[in-house]
Amino acid sequence: MTDLTLSIAGQPPAAANRAASARADAVIPWSLANWRGLYAHVPFCRHKCHYCDFYSFVDREDRGAAYTDRLLAECAALRPRVRRPLETIFVGGGTPTMLPPADLERALLAIAGLAQLGPSGEFSVEANPETVTDEIAAILVRCGVNRISIGCQSFQPSLLVALERHHDPASVARAVGILRRAGITNINLDLIFAVPTSRLEQWQDDLNRALELEPQHISCYGLVYEPNTPLATRLARGEVQRIDEVTEGRMYEHTRAMLAERGYEHYEISNWARPGRRCQHNLLYWRNADWLALGPSASGHAGGVRWKNVPRLADWLNSSPWSMVQDVEALEAEPSAGEQFMLGLRLIDGLDTPDLERLLAMPGGARRRAVIDRLCRGGLLQSDAAGLRIMPSQLMVADSLISELL
Ligand code: SF4
Repeated sequence: MTDLTLSIAGQPPAAANRAASARADAVIPWSLANWRGLYAHVPFCRHKCHYCDFYSFVDREDRGAAYTDRLLAECAALRPRVRRPLETIFVGGGTPTMLPPADLERALLAIAGLAQLGPSGEFSVEANPETVTDEIAAILVRCGVNRISIGCQSFQPSLLVALERHHDPASVARAVGILRRAGITNINLDLIFAVPTSRLEQWQDDLNRALELEPQHISCYGLVYEPNTPLATRLARGEVQRIDEVTEGRMYEHTRAMLAERGYEHYEISNWARPGRRCQHNLLYWRNADWLALGPSASGHAGGVRWKNVPRLADWLNSSPWSMVQDVEALEAEPSAGEQFMLGLRLIDGLDTPDLERLLAMPGGARRRAVIDRLCRGGLLQSDAAGLRIMPSQLMVADSLISELL
């Protein structure tokens, strides 16, 4: 089931008007850009999990220093063109905390220098629990990081094996403790449900154990069998079985009920937060804002143009100081409106009335209005003076509803 997913780095998909590869500085519509966020991708991992389709790998060539040198060069090249402080930074991967400590510090300082976050800025870094040490936590704090997203996934040893995640469940609490002692108080835990062989009671236990750690934010993703991953191959061969949709639905409904009871606001299909702790960076994606992209395979967006940095580390290293980019897309008005529907309706509050009217005034608006009327009559969407949103009971099938509006 794909409805409950967005890449953990939150990089949304796109479509239309593809161009061949080019240098980032030639592609970015600088005069239209209103930069609000920055995403940096660190591709290194300790192990390649078999369900993962992010650009990440085990680096046998120790290229952490080369990666960091290259990142610093691009930060320097971008610096004159980013004239106002940004609101958010998200360093994802991969496993950013796998960088050698000195390189991690160099990279984070360069990124922080480029973004110049104000006092309310959000600076997130992804970490796997076993990589969090006192030394790493101190570096994160020194560099201004104020939010950590921990790849917890499950507390069940058998399900961690099923996911090919090799951390000890106890390492999550250890990592949270280290980070809090170092001064980082805004913590997200990523969890995955609907893992092969999993049962509802195990998922309930996962949620309970996550809640015991009192995170400020929880992301719960339904496992996706992404094409071309080893897990999808195993599924096709019959070596693993999906859990049934009824159980998956119960897991999701249980998540909604339990997290609401514990004071977490459900603000996006897969995301819950304590009041005031919604992920500001991912909200930029869902609101179609402009953000910079650093690192191999990172996607950026500005003024209706999307691009993706070349995904191969060697190619990216060789393209200094500006990234070579591919999948450059300038969306026409109609698909752009469809994409904004897709992103906005992922939010539980949906699209507010001014945004809805703006999108319906764009090409394709009459067709979409008819679709919306039909879906509202069918009880699948809800429309009122505040705007348009997916009915809570239909969140499990959000993708198919949204696809009608693309
Ligand atoms: S740790 Fe995360 S990024 Fe790395 S391979 Fe596993 S799922 Fe992918």
